[in-house]
Amino acid sequence: MSVNAEQPAPFGVRPDSRGRFGEFGGQYVPETLMPALAELASEFDAAWADPSFRQSFDHYLAEYVGRPTPITFLSRISQEVGCQVYAKREDLCHTGAHKINNALGQCLLALRMGKKRIIAETGAGQHGVATATVCAKFGLQCVVYMGEEDTVRQRLNVVRMKLLGAEVRSVSTGTKTLKDAMNEAMRDWVTNVESTHYIIGSAAGPHPYPYLVRELQSVISKEARSQFIELKGQLPDWGIACVGGGSNAIGFFASFLNDKGMKLMGVEAGGLGLSSGKHAAPLTAGSPGVLHGSFSYLMQDGDGQVLETHSVSAGLDYPGVGPEHSQLKDAGRVEYTAADDQQALDALQKLARLEGIICAFESAHAFAPLFSNPAKFKGQTVLVNLSGRGDKDMETAARLFEF
Ligand SMILES: *Cc1c(COP(=O)(O)O)cnc(C)c1O
Repeated sequence: MSVNAEQPAPFGVRPDSRGRFGEFGGQYVPETLMPALAELASEFDAAWADPSFRQSFDHYLAEYVGRPTPITFLSRISQEVGCQVYAKREDLCHTGAHKINNALGQCLLALRMGKKRIIAETGAGQHGVATATVCAKFGLQCVVYMGEEDTVRQRLNVVRMKLLGAEVRSVSTGTKTLKDAMNEAMRDWVTNVESTHYIIGSAAGPHPYPYLVRELQSVISKEARSQFIELKGQLPDWGIACVGGGSNAIGFFASFLNDKGMKLMGVEAGGLGLSSGKHAAPLTAGSPGVLHGSFSYLMQDGDGQVLETHSVSAGLDYPGVGPEHSQLKDAGRVEYTAADDQQALDALQKLARLEGIICAFESAHAFAPLFSNPAKFKGQTVLVNLSGRGDKDMETAARLFEF
């Protein structure tokens, strides 16, 4: 670890007054959005310091989302790998992933700000479904932007969103995927900023989103830390999570960042292999640049053009990553690596056959290092964040496994 051991590690704190985690983050947006971002930052600060807002968030997390989610000991995987493996079960949240922690918190914030219209971007559709769900629950108008290609790949989630009363706007610009959906959502927000709150689905985008989303998702590690201590009387040696935009990982790391003895690992999508160039691993194989309002690691060519990404998992198929992860990478506090499509699918099958848990393709990436490099974890305790369930991926699984 490259941080000064004498100093308390400066991790998991607020970004500075310019919205930066070290050199990363900031607000690279059109002038018209600056007042809206400033309003959002101060409204969130006020809400987060207000016990009644916290109480309401906790109330719905418990009675609607189904928190706290359990920690499960994975005995047969432990035996196979030669270490003690535990999973934090975000797959058991209502709607099947961690996304609803953030969507719920931001929906309550929108209500507090008097905004009646919600917009969101979605890739795999999980954030769109979570947002459409809480909008239905609280009676807010909901518009979800989704790349045309993703509306085909993830048809089931389009049906779910429509059933929940959301309008799904198909985006046919660019590569017709998540990046383009996010551009379109930003454009909508610029036009309708008076009436509209934009719920970004990951710990990415301009300040205050990376901070705000981390705070809302940190319920994962607040629970996990005390549950694990209750269970084992100590912390795990390792914490592992998959990294797309980085929201489940930052929420899962947050309460452990200053536990110096605990090693943390973030697993990106290696796609067809890092050397193929067809992947979604900006921290492992990219360089810093600006995307969607923030300075962070990014997949770009020599001219700063954003590169096309590939991953078997639509939820990790994004060329950027939240700025706090860039800080944690450069500081050496978190080890970032990539698992390719095949390694993720192998891990998915192990988890299904040895533990009876069918996880999301995204989450399978977090388990992959256990099987590809068991020596690294030998004899240690490992807590993996199981970010979501696999129902949405079963059509693709049927094709890939040739069932
Ligand atoms: C969306 C999603 C991810 C990736 O997004 P992060 O913001 O990186 O967490 C990971 N797992 C699941 C199940 C998802 O739905």
